[in-house]
Amino acid sequence: MRVLAVDVGASRLRVALFDNTVMIGRVEVDTPRVGDSLSVARAIASIASRFSFDVVGVASIGPLDLERGWVVGTPNNPLRSFALRDPLVELFRKPVVVANDCVAAVWGEFILGGGRGLSEVAYVTISTGVGVGVVVDGRLLVGRRGNSHEAGHVVVDLNGSVRCGCGGLGHWEALGSGANIPKVAYVKALEWGGDSRAWRLARDGILTSEALYTLARGGDVFALKLVDYINRVHAAGLASLVAAYDPQVVFLGGSVFLKNRDLILEGVRRYIRDYSLLEPPELRETTFGEDTVLYGALAIALKTPAELARYAGVPR
Ligand SMILES: [Zn+2]
Repeated sequence: MRVLAVDVGASRLRVALFDNTVMIGRVEVDTPRVGDSLSVARAIASIASRFSFDVVGVASIGPLDLERGWVVGTPNNPLRSFALRDPLVELFRKPVVVANDCVAAVWGEFILGGGRGLSEVAYVTISTGVGVGVVVDGRLLVGRRGNSHEAGHVVVDLNGSVRCGCGGLGHWEALGSGANIPKVAYVKALEWGGDSRAWRLARDGILTSEALYTLARGGDVFALKLVDYINRVHAAGLASLVAAYDPQVVFLGGSVFLKNRDLILEGVRRYIRDYSLLEPPELRETTFGEDTVLYGALAIALKTPAELARYAGVPR
C-alpha cells in the first residue's frame, strides 16, 4: 500500500510518500500563513500531485475538531482555522485520516517504532510547545474532538508567574517550551541575579532556546542553572504524565529536545524520581528523529485505530 503522510506544523509542512513503511519521497515547504481556510489543503495537494497513493494520513497542529476535520483556532499560525479532511478527500478521491500530531506520533511509536509489543506508551514533544500522545491498554487516547491529554498544560509550578500561550499560569509548556524560554529566562535573571553572557541576554529578554543551550555547553553559569531548572520542569511534567497514565516507556522528541538531548535527558532522568509516586518508566529518544510526526501520519493511515476510523473521510 502507498501512503501519503502529511505533517502540518505551525511553520513547516512536510509531505512524504511511503511504500508500506519505506519512505520513497519527501518534500518540505513553509506552512501557508496567509490565505483562507483551504490554503493548507491546497498546498498539500500541490506537493502531492507528483505522487500516486492509496490512502492519506494527516498529523496536524491542534486544536482540532475531528468531527469536521478542521484545525480550529490554533495560536501558532495566523490562519488560525482551516479545513483538512474534506477538501483533501475531494481533491484526491482517497480515504483521509486526520489526528493531532502528538496523538499520531505515539501511534507511530506503538505500531512501527520502539513501542511495538508494549501496551502502554507515551510520546512527549519538547519543541515550540510541549505536546503529549498516549496509548493505554493498547488503545489510542483521542478525546472528544481529538484534543485529549493536552498535558503540556499541566501545572508544574503553583507560583509560576510566566503566563502560558493558553492564558494559564505555571504550565509545563509555559516554563519548558522553546518559545517560552526567553520569558522564563527573564524571570529567573531577575530572581537569581548574575553577570554572565547568558544572564545579560536573559535580563534583556532575548535569551533564545538556541542561545541558552549553546551557552550552557560552553559552561556559562547562568545558562547551566537555567537548563537545570528547565530539566526539573520537564521532570515534574513527565511525573504528572506518568501518575495519570502509567506508561512503560515515554518517547521524547521535538526539535528542542533532539538538538539538546545531551543536556536534557540525563537531568530529566535524574530529577523525575523526586516527583514520582511510581518507579519512573523508561525515558527514550523517539525512534524516528525529526520525522516522528510523519511516521505517525503513516501509522494512522496504515493501521487506523478505531478511535480515529470513525472520523476518517472517504470519497463518495
Ligand atoms: Zn497552558
